[in-house]
Amino acid sequence: MKYADIIIDISHERLDKTFEYIVPDELESQVFEGVQVVIPFGASNRAITGYVVGLHDEPGFDVTKLKPIARVVKDSIAIESQLISLAAFLKRNYGSTMNQALKTVIPIKKKENEKLKKEITLAIPVEQARIELNEMLTKRHAIGKERLLKELLEIDVLDWELATKKLEVSSTHIRDLEKKGIIRVDSVRTFRNPHMNASATKKHIVLNEEQEAAAEQIKADIDTGRRKTYLIHGVTGSGKTEVYMDVMEHVINMGQQVIVLIPEIALTYQTVMRFYTRFGDKVSILNSRMSPGERFDQFERAKAGDISIMVGPRSALFTPFANLGLIIIDEEHETSYKSEVVPRYHARETAVYRAGLTGATVILGSATPSLEAYSRAQAGEYKLITLHNRAQGQDMASCEIVDLRAELQSGNRSMLSRRLKELMADRLAKKQQIMLFLNRRGLMGFVSCRACGKPLKCPHCDVALHLHNGGVMKCHYCGFTTKAVKNCPSCGSKYIGSFKAGTQRLEEVVKETFPGTRVLRMDADTTSGKNGHEEILSAFAAHEADVLIGTQMIVKGHDFANVTLVGIIAADISLNESDFHSGERTFQLLTQAVGRAGRGTEPGVAVIQTYQPENYAVVASANQDYDSFFAQEFAYRKLLSYPPCSHILGIQVSSEKQKDAVNQADILANVIKQKDPEIVIMGPEDAYIGKLKDVYRRVIYVKADDYDRLVIVKDAIDKFLLEQKEYRSTSTWFDFDPISTI
Ligand code: ADP
Ligand code: ZN
Ligand code: ZN
Repeated sequence: MKYADIIIDISHERLDKTFEYIVPDELESQVFEGVQVVIPFGASNRAITGYVVGLHDEPGFDVTKLKPIARVVKDSIAIESQLISLAAFLKRNYGSTMNQALKTVIPIKKKENEKLKKEITLAIPVEQARIELNEMLTKRHAIGKERLLKELLEIDVLDWELATKKLEVSSTHIRDLEKKGIIRVDSVRTFRNPHMNASATKKHIVLNEEQEAAAEQIKADIDTGRRKTYLIHGVTGSGKTEVYMDVMEHVINMGQQVIVLIPEIALTYQTVMRFYTRFGDKVSILNSRMSPGERFDQFERAKAGDISIMVGPRSALFTPFANLGLIIIDEEHETSYKSEVVPRYHARETAVYRAGLTGATVILGSATPSLEAYSRAQAGEYKLITLHNRAQGQDMASCEIVDLRAELQSGNRSMLSRRLKELMADRLAKKQQIMLFLNRRGLMGFVSCRACGKPLKCPHCDVALHLHNGGVMKCHYCGFTTKAVKNCPSCGSKYIGSFKAGTQRLEEVVKETFPGTRVLRMDADTTSGKNGHEEILSAFAAHEADVLIGTQMIVKGHDFANVTLVGIIAADISLNESDFHSGERTFQLLTQAVGRAGRGTEPGVAVIQTYQPENYAVVASANQDYDSFFAQEFAYRKLLSYPPCSHILGIQVSSEKQKDAVNQADILANVIKQKDPEIVIMGPEDAYIGKLKDVYRRVIYVKADDYDRLVIVKDAIDKFLLEQKEYRSTSTWFDFDPISTI
C-alpha cells in the first residue's frame, strides 16, 4: 500500500500544509508527484482537488483515520502539475526537502497592501525634450538622466521600476528632472510594461548564411514535431542572440511561450532593450533585485497569458507558462546557472527536464561551452550547431602571449609588460580604446614560482594548494597539508610567493605610465552604487575614457566598437584556482576577454600576460581554438575522473560546535560506506572555508560514474538523518557536481 501527501492550496505560505491519503491499489500506477487528484475532504467529505507532492510506503498517521484518494484527474495539464513535478525533480536530483523544492519553484504571494506603481512620462513637447537631451550630452555626469530622456523619446510611458531597476536610472535623477518640469511621475494601480512607440527605431537585421542555417534547422525540427536540445557554439560576436530571436518569433507565432535565461551580469540595458525592441510588451524581465511581490506579479502575468516571453536569471526558469515551447540559455557555461542555495540545482539540467514535461525545445548557447554541454553534444545527446564567423564578417582579434618570467629576467617588475606598454602607447596615440582585465577570483592564497611559473599543487588532486595563516598550505579536496616552502620544488628558485595585485593598483600603474590618460575602473568597489555598472559602461562607450580596467565583470556581452586592444594582466590567477575547473574557467575568461577586441571596423589585438605561457588553456584561448582546449581538458577530467567524466556529491556538515561537526561528518561517512562499500569517498575534511561566522564546516566528497548511485547515497543519508536523535546541533546539505570547492 502507498500513501500520498497532498496539498490543496498552492500558495507559497501554505506549502507546508499537506494532507495524507491512501493510494488505492487500482490507482497506484497513475499516482505520482505532481498529479492532480480528487479527494474527499473534511467531515462532509466534499470532493475537492489537490496535488500529490510526496509518496511513501509507511503511513505517517493512524491508518484507520486515513481516507483513500477518490480519483486521478485525467490529462491534468495544469501548470501546477508541471511545477510540482519540477520540484520533485529538484528534490530527487539535488537533495532538499519537498518543501524547499516547492518554495524554489513557486513564488511568494504579494502582500495585500502593495505599493502603488509609478509611471514616468514627458511633461514637455518632444521637440523641447530633444533640445534638453542635446544640452545634457554636452555635459558630463548626466548619463542616467540622458538615458531616461532618450527612452522617453521612444516610449510614451515608462514604468518607475523599469527606469530605476532595469535601466538603472537613480531616483534622484528622476526627481531632479521632475522638479525641472521636464518629466511627470504619476501613480497608477496596475503594473504594465513600457509601450514601444510605433516609431521606435527598429534596426532590421537580416540573418547571415550561418545564422540562417542555424535558425532554419531548429525551426524545421519544431515544425515536424521534433523537440530537442541544441547547443549553439558560436564565436564571440557571431550573432547568437539574433538566432535566438528568430526562433523565438517562430515559437510565439505558434501560440507558445518562451523563457530566456541570461546571466545576471549580462542583464544590462543593452541586452534588455534588444528584446523589447523586437518583441515589445510581450516581454517581461525578472531580475534578482525585484521584491518577492514583483516577481509574483510577473509570474501571475505569465500565467494569465499577458506576456509570452520571460527574460531573466536562473529563477525565470520557473515561470508558469502553460504552453511553454522554448527555453533558451545564453552563455550556458556561466556559473550563475547553478543555485548556491538548497536545492543547489543547475538550470541547464532542470531546463532540459522541464522542456521534457511539455515537449519544449531547449537552445543552449556559448562561445565557450561547458565541458558538460559539449561532451553531451559530442555524444549526440544535444544537437551541435556551430557559428564559425563573426556576424558582420569582422576578423577575430589576433592574440599575443607575453611570458612574464622573461619580463622578470629582463628586470621589468611592472604589471605591464614591455609589449603591452608599446601597444597601449600606440592605441592611445591613435585615440583608440583599451580594456585591461584582471581576474580577481582566487586572488588570495595560491602560491606560485615567478621564475618557472609553476604553482604548488596537491600531489593527490592536482589542484593548487591554498596558503593559510601560519604558513601551511592545504588541499581543499583531500586535506593534504604541507609547510610553506622557501624554494620552488621544481626549479629551486627563491622567487616564490603568493600573488598580490588588484585593479586599484593597476589603475595607479596605468596613470603613472601614461600620464594624462583617462581611466575608468569597474570592480566590486566602483559598482556598489545602484547605477555603477551602467554609468561606467556608458561613459566608456561614449569615449569618456581611454582605458577601462576591470575584473571579470567587463568581459561579458559588451560591444565597444572602438576597443582595439585588450590586455589580460595575469592569466595565472584563474589558472591557479584550487579547483579542477580552473582550466575551463581560464579558457572561458580569456576567450571572452579576447573577444572584446576588434568588434568595430578596426582589427583587434589581445595580449595575454602569464607565467605559464605553455599552459594548454592559455595557448588554446590565444588561438581561439575551442576544440583543442576541449580535447585536452576532457582528457584531464577523464584521467582524474572529474565531472563530466564522473559525478561528485559534496556533502557539507556544519555546526557551531566543532566537535559535533567533526563527529557527525565521520558518522555520515560511515553511513555512506555501509550503503555503498565500493564507492569513492574523500574526506571528511574542513570545508574550503572551514569556519564561517562561528560555524564549523566539514565536507565529504563522494565520487561515482553513475549519477544515480550518488542519489542513492543522498537518500540513505536523508533517511539516516530523519531517524537520528543525536547531533541535533548539526545541519547537512548536498551539492551535486559542485561548480566550485565547497
Ligand atoms: P553574440 O551573442 O554571438 O556575441 P550578438 O547577437 O550580440 O552576438 O551579435 C553581435 C553584434 O552583431 C550585435 O551588435 C548584433 O546586432 C550584430 N549582428 C548580429 N547578427 C547580425 C547580422 N546578421 N547582420 C548585422 N549585424 C548583426
Ligand atoms: Zn620554480
Ligand atoms: Zn588533494
